[in-house]
Amino acid sequence: MSETHSGPITDFRGWLDRLAATDRLAIARPGLALLHEIAALSKRLDGSKASFCPAPNGTHTIPVVSGLLGARSWIAEALGVSEAAVLARFAEACANPLPWREISAAPVQEIVQRPADLATLPIPTHNEHDSGAYITAGLLICRNPRTGVQNVAIHRCQVNGPDEIGILLLPRHTLAFFDAAEAAGTPLEMAIVIGADPLSLLASQAIVPIDHDELEIAGALHGAPLEVVKCVTNAVRVPAHAEIVLEGAILPRERAPEGPFGEFPQYYGERAERHVIKLSAITRRSDAIFHTIVGGGLEHLLLGAIPREASLLALLRQMFPGILDVHLSMGGVGRYVLYVKLKKRQNGEARNVIAGAFAAHYDIKHVIVVDEDVDIHNPRDVEWAVATRVQADRDLVIIADAQGSKLDPSTDAGVGAKLGIDATIPLDAPAMKYIRIRVPGEDSIDLAKLLAPDCPGWRQAMCK
Ligand code: MN
Repeated sequence: MSETHSGPITDFRGWLDRLAATDRLAIARPGLALLHEIAALSKRLDGSKASFCPAPNGTHTIPVVSGLLGARSWIAEALGVSEAAVLARFAEACANPLPWREISAAPVQEIVQRPADLATLPIPTHNEHDSGAYITAGLLICRNPRTGVQNVAIHRCQVNGPDEIGILLLPRHTLAFFDAAEAAGTPLEMAIVIGADPLSLLASQAIVPIDHDELEIAGALHGAPLEVVKCVTNAVRVPAHAEIVLEGAILPRERAPEGPFGEFPQYYGERAERHVIKLSAITRRSDAIFHTIVGGGLEHLLLGAIPREASLLALLRQMFPGILDVHLSMGGVGRYVLYVKLKKRQNGEARNVIAGAFAAHYDIKHVIVVDEDVDIHNPRDVEWAVATRVQADRDLVIIADAQGSKLDPSTDAGVGAKLGIDATIPLDAPAMKYIRIRVPGEDSIDLAKLLAPDCPGWRQAMCK
């Protein structure tokens, strides 16, 4: 992307305009089916274009969009920085959150529907064996029952009925708040925000401690306080300029079957008894747009990967100042495989880095440490380093029976092995041994000066 950076994108519709103006928004014929067809289009265009689908099923007036953050370069563009500056910008916002500002009249409350009826929203079914329609791009906002500080997270939300949702709560902040509420026998008030701006989506995935409100990180990314409004039926504050808000509560002592659902590891999360949300209202813009994230697509992978990379880089650098960059590869589903670029100063240091990375997040399963001449955003370059700088009897670190990801099907209920690969060059290696071959001028020559201007054909060129 050669265009100049024009500051952060602070609203959902502004981002759609940007995508449309740069030929990255495919407009579908009206009437695509909510069952698989909208997801199929989005998946086919994954990473090249977002998709905008008017009149889903031919009956809904609310359109569906998907694939809004389908490339790393797009996320950089939404942040208003270069790709190289993405992690630093995100880490800076996490360290310097900006409190939100409450307003009283908000576009997201132009229409208030009570009682709530999810059948009025175009909610797609994505993968082949998904149990049914899922809300996948909803920011679930709830408040710590003890402190009142809000938390923001994306959870998969299965449509159970007109005003009921089945939800997967992994052991993170939403569940901690709910456990406290349930212990007191009370529901946990919450709201699910659909059609949030791209930077609020990104901020929702920040790896920050409990009682760090992710909407304040969104404000820092925007460079201005996020405007919020109080929900109509509870005390949760939601982004005022979003498209749709589902208001309600997670019920105590209520569980119902949820799943299977196609997840980021490219497998299905299993069906099990899970938490239940009862809705009290739906509010929305009068001309609302519904955002969906196709499970396992690039938007899903990148939204998880980039905030994690930012946190991992900041954390690991405190211990190892020689770390220049980290990357969670897409083949490693943006969670499991970490590439680390290290300016090594001591032999053995890469093994310490590997140990540090495993401690930083339980999802990290394989760590590959490379030298500064390797492009960690190019998996082929990393594979080259592993192919030419690694001896398996010398350079592997394996830790058995550690905590891993429950969604990794090769683990035993989340317990599994960790593998570290030290693909760095020994510091005392002879200089010539590891110099990468290169033709002088291959990167810097001017093709216009070297190539014949009007392509004469090789027979004519030979006769001159
Ligand atoms: Mn949190």
